Amino acid sequence: MKKIDYTTYKKPTDFMKFEQGDNLIRIVSSGVIGLQHVMKTANRFVNLGPCTEDETCEFCNKGYEPKAAWKWLVFNYADKTIKILDAGIMIGNQICELGKKFGDPQEFDIVVNKKGESLKTQYVCTKVVKDTGIPEDLKAGLEFRKKRLINKFFTKKQ
Ligand SMILES: [Zn+2]
Repeated sequence: MKKIDYTTYKKPTDFMKFEQGDNLIRIVSSGVIGLQHVMKTANRFVNLGPCTEDETCEFCNKGYEPKAAWKWLVFNYADKTIKILDAGIMIGNQICELGKKFGDPQEFDIVVNKKGESLKTQYVCTKVVKDTGIPEDLKAGLEFRKKRLINKFFTKKQ
């Protein structure tokens, strides 16, 4: 538990939400790529859910086209916790390019710069020159949270 600071309060979520400007993150898991169903509305994208990639997919059966989606667990330096990064092609592809160029992105910090809102949002991902590093005293708690998120979102329920 921690004390509520009303000035900085944000609705809790397990998913990474980027703020305008620079966001410092560290990837803390391997990445997965899959297909996701996303619906474009007048001013935003609505996430419908993952594509099962077989004939049982209710969204494919309705004629919706799935899109590639990338997922990582990331440490968000701003709120010092681990979140699920559910990325579309803009962020997903850039992080993979960084991995191609510099090696496993779990080994360095990344700045995700966000500009613009809703459908016009642009993201630029860059490797930082000097890593901040996840504070040692947080690591045990973060491992526990990581396991919880993996169980909740990545373990297939049969
Ligand atoms: Zn589908």
